[in-house]
Amino acid sequence: MQLTDEDAEFRGRVRQWLEQNLTGEFAALRGQGGPGREHEHFEERLAWNRHLAASGWTCLSWPAEYGGRDATIAQQVIFHEEYARAGAPARVGHMGEELLGPTLLAFGTQAQKDRFLPPIAEVRELWCQGYSEPGAGSDLASLTTSARLDGGEWVITGQKVWTSLAREADWCFLLARTEPGSRRSAGLSYLLVPMHQPGITVRPIRQLTGTSEFNEVFFDGARTARDLVVGEAGDGWRVAMATLAIERGVSTLGQQVGYQRELDALITAARRTGAARDPLLRDRLARAWIGLQVMREQVLAMLGSDSAAGAGGASVVKLLWSTWHRDLGELAMDVLGPSSMLAQGPPYDLDDWQRLYLFSRADTIYGGSAEIQRGIIADRALGLPRQSR
Ligand SMILES: Cc1cc2nc3c(=O)[nH]c(=O)nc-3n(C[C@H](O)[C@H](O)[C@H](O)COP(=O)(O)OP(=O)(O)OC[C@H]3O[C@@H](n4cnc5c(N)ncnc54)[C@H](O)[C@@H]3O)c2cc1C
Repeated sequence: MQLTDEDAEFRGRVRQWLEQNLTGEFAALRGQGGPGREHEHFEERLAWNRHLAASGWTCLSWPAEYGGRDATIAQQVIFHEEYARAGAPARVGHMGEELLGPTLLAFGTQAQKDRFLPPIAEVRELWCQGYSEPGAGSDLASLTTSARLDGGEWVITGQKVWTSLAREADWCFLLARTEPGSRRSAGLSYLLVPMHQPGITVRPIRQLTGTSEFNEVFFDGARTARDLVVGEAGDGWRVAMATLAIERGVSTLGQQVGYQRELDALITAARRTGAARDPLLRDRLARAWIGLQVMREQVLAMLGSDSAAGAGGASVVKLLWSTWHRDLGELAMDVLGPSSMLAQGPPYDLDDWQRLYLFSRADTIYGGSAEIQRGIIADRALGLPRQSR
């Protein structure tokens, strides 16, 4: 990626703003939050996110009319790099900002964009993603949650599962069967549903990390307005797949620059523990560093080319970062040695490395599992015959 003088000037502005603002009450938030650690200082991080928003540092790629900056890809990369370099805390509004927002920009009505995009950009409304169900994960098209029209409203009945941040969310974008008797991907609709209502119950699920980021969500006659369907009613599959492609590709950019920080910290730890002199661990550390360069190049190539994404590019990116991060968790345990197996305190206090190791097991599952991504690559990039069900 060629950086211009304007880009350099933009980098300077981002860096300066972060230096001047990640101070005072926000200084303690450095390094807080993120996958497996979403419970850390949630309210304070929300306040930080709103502070970012007030200065126009959310939703950078969106059009200015909806609260964005019309930022170029280079500027988005620069922002994420500087954000990670400053150790700024993980953001809390990423479902809205990175998944629903771009989907609404592509498929939403004018009224939906006007209603929902500004509160996402201002971090006034948080979102969760209601796709997976107990009987529909990788095979999402087998979902059974239904929605039927009752006067001016959709009435939703069913259950979602693994719904990240559902307890914190104000709204859910979900996929429901709106044509009774329809099968597989036909007859589904992409609905926007308010979470704070009597027909919705959220039950946290305790994870391997001891924390509960994801949840079961029960819909028992929950309601949403008739016009809160994105795309045409019955055409939700197409919209849902567009959100998934975004989740697997572009939205991982910010995440990846955070990985550099984790790797740097692990290299420092390896020097401290003596692991840096172990030939096998040195080899794995070097491979991790190479993997990070490959990943970055792959994302940048994909961002600059629509055709790469069409030929399974988003799946390649998802596979690269998820397996890289899972391997980094394993490497961290080996670098830290036997002490990495001890909890930090009763009953189950984990340090950052242990949390990384345990949570990164999920990386190759959510957003489409590694096996599913390889299947997509086999279909779309290699043109192999489709797998029979
Ligand atoms: C941390 C985390 C957060 C999540 N957040 C959300 C969220 O916010 N919203 C949401 O809707 N969902 C969320 N999910 C759910 C996630 O999308 C599903 O877990 C995922 O799609 C896999 O579905 P499943 O768990 O039902 O596993 P299954 O689909 O039952 O898969 C089980 C195993 O079989 C393999 N498999 C399945 N089908 C095939 C096939 N055709 N070929 C080869 N192998 C196959 C899978 O790779 C996997 O190893 C989250 C999951 C995790 C772990």
